Amino acid sequence: MPAPLRTFSNQILPFTFLLTAGMVAAQSAPSTMPCADLAKVAGQRFPNQTTIIASAQLNAASEGKPGNPALGFAGAPVPPLPEHCEVLGRINDREGMYGQHYAIKFHMRLPAAWNGKFFFEGGGGSNGVVGNAFGNLQGQQRNVALGLGYAVVSQDSGHDNAVNNDAERNGTVTHGFDPQARLDHGYNSYDQVTQMAKALIRIHYGRAPERSYFVGCSEGGREAMMMSQRFPDHFDGILACAPGFELPKSALFGEVWTTQTLAGLAVKMGVYDKDGTPFLNKTFTDEDLALVSNAVLGACDALDGLADGVIDNFRACTTDLVAQKLAEVTCKGPKRDGCLLPAQVAAIERIYAGPKNSKGEELYSDWAWDRGMGGKLGGAAPPDAYNVGWRVWKMGVYDAPVNNSITTSLGALSVGAVFTTPPTATRVTGGAPMKALLAVDLDRDAAKLDAETPAYPVSVTSYFMANSTDLSRFKARQGKLVIVHGVSDPIFSANDTIRWYERLNQVNQGHAAEFVRTFAVPGMNHCGGGPSTDQFDAFAALVNWTEKSQAPDKIVATAGAATPWPGRTRPLCAYPAQARYTGSGSIEDAANFACR
Ligand code: CA
Repeated sequence: MPAPLRTFSNQILPFTFLLTAGMVAAQSAPSTMPCADLAKVAGQRFPNQTTIIASAQLNAASEGKPGNPALGFAGAPVPPLPEHCEVLGRINDREGMYGQHYAIKFHMRLPAAWNGKFFFEGGGGSNGVVGNAFGNLQGQQRNVALGLGYAVVSQDSGHDNAVNNDAERNGTVTHGFDPQARLDHGYNSYDQVTQMAKALIRIHYGRAPERSYFVGCSEGGREAMMMSQRFPDHFDGILACAPGFELPKSALFGEVWTTQTLAGLAVKMGVYDKDGTPFLNKTFTDEDLALVSNAVLGACDALDGLADGVIDNFRACTTDLVAQKLAEVTCKGPKRDGCLLPAQVAAIERIYAGPKNSKGEELYSDWAWDRGMGGKLGGAAPPDAYNVGWRVWKMGVYDAPVNNSITTSLGALSVGAVFTTPPTATRVTGGAPMKALLAVDLDRDAAKLDAETPAYPVSVTSYFMANSTDLSRFKARQGKLVIVHGVSDPIFSANDTIRWYERLNQVNQGHAAEFVRTFAVPGMNHCGGGPSTDQFDAFAALVNWTEKSQAPDKIVATAGAATPWPGRTRPLCAYPAQARYTGSGSIEDAANFACR
C-alpha cells in the first residue's frame, strides 16, 4: 500500500478512491519516495542523466520574517512556509571557456500538502542566482506559490554570479563568452529544469503534476513568453510580467540610444563624472523629471474622460500633445527652477521616440508617454519613493557619485557579452561599461544581433529573442498566457508588448484573446512601483482561466502606500479595453469603473 495522498484541503484520501477517480495509472500503484531518500536518486531517473541531487531535507513549517534590504538578495523577506522538502541540485556540470566551471543549478521545494501542481519561478536581470523557490506570484502579492501548495522550482539558468564573474570579462555576465552558457541562459536551462522538476515530482509524490505554471517578470517574463513559443508542451498557464521578449533589441538599441542621447545632453550641460564620462545622473534633477511627468499628465490625463492622475488612454497620448505641454515649461533663458532647458526637452522627446538608425528606421520601439518617470507631486503625495524606478534604469539617481544607471552598468556589460556576437570583453570598473555603450554605432553594430561565428554559431536573435507569434502548439493544447506590463516601464516598452500582441492577434484572425490576454498598468515602472495600482493577483486570474475557463476581462488592482492615492482600486483591463469611469461613485473604487 502506498503512502496516502493529500488533496487541496490536505484531506487524506484512500487509495481506492484515487483509483476510481482515475487520477493515477490503473496498471501500477504509484510509488512515492520520502524526502530524505531523494538525495540518493541517481541521474538515470532523470531525462537529463547528468542531473545530480546535491541535497534533500525536510523543513518544518516556518513563520515568515521581514526583509533586510541592507543584505541585498540575502536579506529578502521570507514568507510563511509550509512543511516541505527542499532539494538542491545541478545539471550538466562542465568545464567551459576561459577556465570557467558551469552547471545549471536548481532549487526546488516540494510541499507536504501538495496541491497537485507545479510552479516554475522565472529569473531576473541576467540571472546567475539560483533563487529561493518560494514561488513569487508577481503583482506585489504576499502569498507565494509554495504557501498555496505548489511544488516550486527556481534556477540560475546555467551560470553562477558568485563563480562565473571575471572582472576583466564583463563581471557577472562572463558566461556570455561561453557558447553553451549562452544557450542555457537563452532557452536551454528552462527546458532542462522543467523536465527535471516534473521527474522529481513523479519520484517524490508518485504522480505527475496535474497542471504546470510558469511565472516571471522582466527576464523572467521573457522566459515565460519563450516557453509558450519554444516549449509549448511544458506549461498549461503562463504569466509574463514586463516581459523582455525582445531583450537583445531593448539592450543593444534601446539602452544605447537612451545613454547616447543623455550623454549628448550631459556634454551640452558640461557635467562629467570622476571617470571623465558624461554624467547621466546629473542631466535631470527629480524636480526636472516632475516637470516632465506633470506635462504628460496635463496633456493626457483627461483623454480617458477623468482627470484622476491615471493616463488610461495612453494610446492616444501622442508626442504632439505632450510637446505642447513641454513647450510651456521650457526655459526662455538660462536653467532655473520650474523650467527645462530646450536641450533637456529635446533629449526626452528623442528618448521616447525610440532608437532609429541613420536612415530613420525603427530599431526597437517607441515608448508610451506616461507619468511614471516620477516627480514630486505636491499636496498630499507621500515622499516620492516611487519615482526612483524609472531614473534608476535610464540615468541613475541624482546624488550618485558616478554614473550608475542600470543601463550603464549591468546593461552595458550585457550588451557586450550577451547581446552581441562575438562577445566583447569589457572591464567592470573605471567607467569602461559606459564608454563601451558610447562607442556603439547603431548602423555598424546592429548586425551583431544576427551574426554567427565558428566559435559562436548561434546568433543572439536565435538564442535569446522570444518574439515569435507562432503559439499554435500552445493554443492547440489549451495553454493560456497572461501578460502584464507597466506603461511607465523604463527598460521594456509597453508599446512593444502591445505591438507584439497585435501581430499575434492578426496571426490568429482576431482571436488571440481566446488564449492570450495583455494588461497594461498605467504609471507602473518595471515589475512594480510608480504612481500606479501595482498590487494585483494576475496569477489567480491565470489559474481561473486555465482550470475553470474563466477568461479574465479585468484584474482588480490596488495602489500602494507610496502612491498619491494609497488604497485606490482600479480594474486592469484586457487590451484593447481601457478602464473608464462609469460617472458616479468614488473614483477610488474599482467598482465604479468599467473596461471598454
Ligand atoms: Ca485619467
